[in-house]
Amino acid sequence: MLTFHVITLFPESLTSYISESILSRAQDKKFIKIKTYTPRDYAEIVGENGWRKKVDGRPYSGGPGMVLLPGPVLRAVAKAKGRANAKRKFKIIIFSPGGTNFTNTYAKGCIDKKYTDIILICGRYEGIDARVKKILKAEDVSIGEYVLTGGELPAMVFMDAVSRQIEGVLGKFASLEENRISSHEVYTRPEVFTYQKKKYKVPEVLLSGDHKKIEEWKTSKNK
Ligand code: SAM
Repeated sequence: MLTFHVITLFPESLTSYISESILSRAQDKKFIKIKTYTPRDYAEIVGENGWRKKVDGRPYSGGPGMVLLPGPVLRAVAKAKGRANAKRKFKIIIFSPGGTNFTNTYAKGCIDKKYTDIILICGRYEGIDARVKKILKAEDVSIGEYVLTGGELPAMVFMDAVSRQIEGVLGKFASLEENRISSHEVYTRPEVFTYQKKKYKVPEVLLSGDHKKIEEWKTSKNK
């Protein structure tokens, strides 16, 4: 079983997708496990009333936005790692818009390398104190060339794409489809769909039953 440990300030933001999607089925079938940890639980309490748990600080470089403190993040990671065990193989990832591109090949690699535990650290605000990456020898991973507000969506994208690479998580047909990223058009019933008085037909070749021709058509659509 592959365990994802998600370090996030907002664990509840993950729950609805995890409980409704392929991630839920994969957990039920014991292919994966998802655990969340919030740095807030490992923060020092500050303030006169002792109520505020400090998880961020102002950047030394100046500028807007706060930076996540290293201590609470590292303590959350230590909790996720738990006791050392020779059978466990860890990978630690920090989500960052400037990191290594996350691709299907990367997702498949996570399964091929037989990690038992993947720790996913979600940044917020201006990101995470850079020493966390150095200390943990973590890898920065980006899910695309755009900036999101936090690492929670990247964590979800990551877990979804990696989980569907585990044999048995998807149905047989769907598993075969994993061998390629396809951009060909797909159609279902009805054969002729009428929209605003105009008729839209399924391409003839798909109704022909000629598998060779269908494959050629798919290839042509992928170009
Ligand atoms: N200037 C900061 C930087 O370059 O890291 C922007 C931080 S962003 C507002 C807050 C957090 O969202 C990041 O620390 C990261 O964890 C996550 N994030 C935003 N966009 C992302 C992307 N495209 N891929 C992966 N993580 C992303």
